[in-house]
Amino acid sequence: MNPNCIFCRIIEGQSPNDTVYEDDRVIAFLDINPAAPIHILIVPREHISSINQVQDDQEELIGHLFTTAKHLAEVNNIAESGYRLIINTGPDAHQAVFHIHLHLLGGHQMRYPMG
Ligand code: 5GP
Ligand code: ZN
Repeated sequence: MNPNCIFCRIIEGQSPNDTVYEDDRVIAFLDINPAAPIHILIVPREHISSINQVQDDQEELIGHLFTTAKHLAEVNNIAESGYRLIINTGPDAHQAVFHIHLHLLGGHQMRYPMG
């Protein structure tokens, strides 16, 4: 728990949010400023600032973010229509919250190419 971290405060129940899934390792809630009809953030309960700080023994936890995304894509009926999974890391990628989160975006045709 990092008291200065908005996602840690959400995890601790100290900040309102629209939780759509939670288990012992992750929580998922709606993005406050959605960029697509479905925009869910999947967040490890453990405070890890970015992918740059991930340790070898946290590989399984990072993998769990992705299997949770797969589950939520099925629940939201976008598994077949398609979706985008994004982890922004560092200034060039506009990372704004320094607690790892996997964006699940879907529900409309997205722009391509990326970047
Ligand atoms: P980043 O650029 O760090 O990958 O994205 C951070 C995301 O968190 C943004 O899409 C932003 O809308 C979302 N966000 C920031 N603060 C809050 C909050 O307090 N609650 C929720 N639900 N989402 C937030
Ligand atoms: Zn945090």
